[in-house]
Amino acid sequence: MKVMKKIYIETYGCQMNEYDSELVKALLQKNGFVIVADNKKADIIILNTCAVRDSAVRKVSGRIARLRYLNKNYIIGVIGCIASAYKTELYKIKDFKIDFFVGPDNYKKLAQVIKKVIISNEKSDETEQLLETYEDVFPVRKKGASAWLTIMRGCNNYCTYCIVPYSRGPERSKSFKSIINEVEQIIEQGYKQVYLLGQNVNSYVDNKQNFVDLIKTISNYQQIKRIRFTSPHPKDLSMSLIELMAQKSNICSQLHLPLQSGSTNILEKMNRTYTQEDYLALIKNIKSIIPDIVLSTDIIIGFPGETKKDYEETIKVMKEVMFDSAYIFKYSVRPKTLAAKKYKDNVSEKEKKARITKLNEMQKEISLLKNMEAVDKVQEVMIESISTKKSVHDCYGRNQGNKLIVIPNNNYVIGDEIKVKIWQASANTLRGMPV
Ligand code: SF4
Repeated sequence: MKVMKKIYIETYGCQMNEYDSELVKALLQKNGFVIVADNKKADIIILNTCAVRDSAVRKVSGRIARLRYLNKNYIIGVIGCIASAYKTELYKIKDFKIDFFVGPDNYKKLAQVIKKVIISNEKSDETEQLLETYEDVFPVRKKGASAWLTIMRGCNNYCTYCIVPYSRGPERSKSFKSIINEVEQIIEQGYKQVYLLGQNVNSYVDNKQNFVDLIKTISNYQQIKRIRFTSPHPKDLSMSLIELMAQKSNICSQLHLPLQSGSTNILEKMNRTYTQEDYLALIKNIKSIIPDIVLSTDIIIGFPGETKKDYEETIKVMKEVMFDSAYIFKYSVRPKTLAAKKYKDNVSEKEKKARITKLNEMQKEISLLKNMEAVDKVQEVMIESISTKKSVHDCYGRNQGNKLIVIPNNNYVIGDEIKVKIWQASANTLRGMPV
C-alpha cells in the first residue's frame, strides 16, 4: 500500500484562518505528516475555509471541483468555518466526494481523522463545538517580519448577517499565561511584529485581566517593535486602550473599526448595538487622544431594507470620518443567520453594484487624499519583502499605520526598520527614499 503522508493546505478567509492553518501544520507534522507547498506533490488536500460571504463558499466549491478534476484519487478534506456551518450543502454535491470535514474546534483530531480515511476509506466528520483555545499548541509560522497570535475565539454578538457565532461558537479566551509564553516564543524566533487576533479582541478576558492588561504586558517586551490587533467591536472599545496606544510607541497608531453601515436604522437591524451618533462620538474621542490615527473599516452595502436614504447616511459617515481605507462588501444571504430568517434580500443586484461602485470610488479619493498627507514626511518602514511584483530592484514594507511603502532595495533584509522620506502617493501605495 502506498504510504500517504504528503499534505497540501490551502487557506481561505481572514488572518485567524491563516493562524489556524499554522496550528494545523504543527499538529500534522507532530503526527508524521509532511506539509508540501504544491498540490501536485500531495496525496491529501486540506482546504481551510471561510463561510463569511457567499462568494467565499462559491470559491471553495469551485476549487474542490477543480481538484477532483485534476486528481480523482486525492483525499480531500474541508476544515474551518464551512465544515461546521455548511457541510450538509457540500455533502449533497456528489462529484465532490469530500473525505472529511473537521470544524475549527476539532483540529487536534485531524491526524486521526486522516489516518482513518487512509486505512478504511471511510468518510469522517468531526465538527462538534468544544470551546477549544489551542493554548497548548505552538503554530508553525511562516518566515517573515510578523507573527499572528489568536488570543480569543468565537463570538457572542450575533450580528444578524454573520455566520461566525454559529461556525466558531461562543467567545472564549486563551489564558494570559499561554499568550505570554507564545509571545516569548515569537521573540525567540526573531519576529519583530505581532498581530493579536480575535473575532472581538477587546472582549478578551482571563480571570480579571482584560485586553488592555494583555496588550500592555506584551508592549513591555522591547524586542517586539510593533503590535497590531484586529478586530475590535465599536461597542467594547475603551478609551483606556486608546490612551495606552498613545503612550506606547510599539503599539501601532492604527485601528480597524468595523462600521458596517452609517444608518442607525440598518445598524439596529444588523444588531450592531450602536447608532451612527455613537460611532461618530467614538471616532471623535479616539482622534482627541491620537489625532493622526490611521483608521480602516468594513462596510456592508445592500443589507435588507437599505433605502437610498440609509445608503446616503453611510456616505455621510465615510465623508466625516475620512477612513484611510475601507473594505466594502455587498450583502449576501448567509443561510442559518438571523437576517436570512427574518429579512428579505430586497435590494436588487443592480442597485447593490451601483452603490458599491460609487462607494469604492469615493473611498479611493479619500484614501488618496489621506496618503497625500504623507508626502515629504519622514516615516519608519519595516521591511516585509525584498522585492515587489513589478521589480526586483524595489522592496516594500509598512509604516506604523500599516500602509504599504515601496522603496529601492539597498540589500535590506526582512524585518529591517528604515527611515524613508515619502515622495509619491497613490490611493493604495506610498513610495519613499531612504534618508
Ligand atoms: S461581531 Fe458580529 S460581525 Fe463580528 S464575528 Fe461577531 S457576529 Fe460576526
